[in-house]
Amino acid sequence: MSGRGHKSGTDDAMPLAAQYLPFHRPSLGAAEERAVIEVLRSGWLARGRKTAEFEEMFADFVGARHAIALNSCTAGLHLALLCAGIGPGAEVITTPFTFAATANVILHTGAKVVFADIDPASLNLDPAQVGNLITTRTRALLPVHFGGQPCDMTRIRGLARRHGLAVIEDAAHALGASFDNRPIGSLSDFTAFSFYATKNITTGEGGMLTTNNDDLASRARVLSLHGMSVDSWQRYGRSGHSYYEVQEPGFKYNMFDLQAALGVEQLKRCDEMTARRRELAALYDRELADCPFVELLRSPSCNEDAHHLYVVRLRLERLRLDRDGIAGAMENQNIGVSVHFRALHLHPYYRKQYGFNPADFPIANEMSDRVLSLPLYPSLTDEGATRVASVLRAVLEHHSV
Ligand SMILES: *Cc1c(COP(=O)(O)O)cnc(C)c1O
Repeated sequence: MSGRGHKSGTDDAMPLAAQYLPFHRPSLGAAEERAVIEVLRSGWLARGRKTAEFEEMFADFVGARHAIALNSCTAGLHLALLCAGIGPGAEVITTPFTFAATANVILHTGAKVVFADIDPASLNLDPAQVGNLITTRTRALLPVHFGGQPCDMTRIRGLARRHGLAVIEDAAHALGASFDNRPIGSLSDFTAFSFYATKNITTGEGGMLTTNNDDLASRARVLSLHGMSVDSWQRYGRSGHSYYEVQEPGFKYNMFDLQAALGVEQLKRCDEMTARRRELAALYDRELADCPFVELLRSPSCNEDAHHLYVVRLRLERLRLDRDGIAGAMENQNIGVSVHFRALHLHPYYRKQYGFNPADFPIANEMSDRVLSLPLYPSLTDEGATRVASVLRAVLEHHSV
């Protein structure tokens, strides 16, 4: 959806802006280049000092006792579920309005995925729906902070405490966000972050798992590296001899120093980049406030939003084209857009395996057809964002009923 697509189209009447404005562009500069070259020249590419430095810096940034650097957020969610004792016979409640990884990892443990519908204003998990779905087999809640806006963690944590459930946050969108003045990453049993190429900070691929629990942290660390009791840096370190014990069959999920070099430099700029995202989101809010063809998302004011995505909900009843048609029309106008998300219960595997109907989660179902994500990244200029908003308004007007 975010590529330069279909050039044929229905927009002959509209003037074409010259330059393609991409949906996303990572913010990488001279500091990142220097840091990567330094690691390349150091002779140590594997997990080592740089990864340890990134972990320490990250734990400090989100106010967690432990941060474990991994090769993806997916790996972090998987390890968190295993460390929380999730396996066959367990149920984990999560949102269908997310990326595939969130629910796939639940299946990898042998547990059952239980979807709860979302709140139409924020597109986050609706705590009331979650409450209705808790059974004697429920073991964990897995909220996703959609687009970077924190879920209602007071209510989610309250439900978890009352029923003795683990809370594992998918914070792939939410680095830099906070709930009630507490940073996301410091609140729950586990929080997993993503540094995939399109996320708020990037290491190309990569992730981080945070926790305040010492025992869970050391188990997650051991599982992230084949189940070995010490990591390879210590194994081949100054102590001079190599010695390890396999405590259980683990995974190959660790981050390595080249990635961490990028992560350290990106994290230094995270606050500044979030501030720029906030400015751009405010610009879109102003430019689109009186557009009759969209509804903007609303985030409760007690939350600090990481502004990973800028999502509008199209008012399809006022338009002659569906969302994919509008997305195509934006691409024809040389503006990259994307869709977050088509709800998981609509995908073939989940439909078949669980026998879901689209209407089982009516809000997630409706929003799957209505959401459109606009470009939002620190290097986007005010002029660029203004152009995106005015082209969107023109496209919607052009295709209105
Ligand atoms: C990107 C993303 C993930 C997966 O992150 P990886 O680092 O690619 O594993 C998980 N959940 C959500 C909501 C995401 O957007």
